[in-house]
Amino acid sequence: MRPTLTVIADPADRWMSEAACIGQAPAYDETATPWEQRKARELCVTSCPVIAECYEWARREKFTGTAAGLRLLYGRRRGHPESAAS
Ligand code: SF4
Repeated sequence: MRPTLTVIADPADRWMSEAACIGQAPAYDETATPWEQRKARELCVTSCPVIAECYEWARREKFTGTAAGLRLLYGRRRGHPESAAS
C-alpha cells in the first residue's frame, strides 16, 4: 500500500482563491516591465475583492513586487517614509 500524503492548507490564505490576478503572476514579479506592473496595479485596485487581505499577506510575508495595488519592497511600500525604517 502506498503512503498517503496529507496536505495542510493554511485557512488564513483561502482568500487567494478569489484573487483577480490568478494566472498572471509574471506581471506581479519584480522583473516585469513598468507597463506590466502598472497594468497589474490597475487590476488590483479596479477588480480585486481581496485587496485588504492581500496587503496584510504581503506585509506578513515581506513580499517584493506588485501586490495590493502597490509596489512593495520586503513588504513595505516603495518610496513610503515607513520603508526607510529598519
Ligand atoms: S490585490 Fe492584486 S496582487 Fe493582491 S490578490 Fe488582488 S489582484 Fe492579486
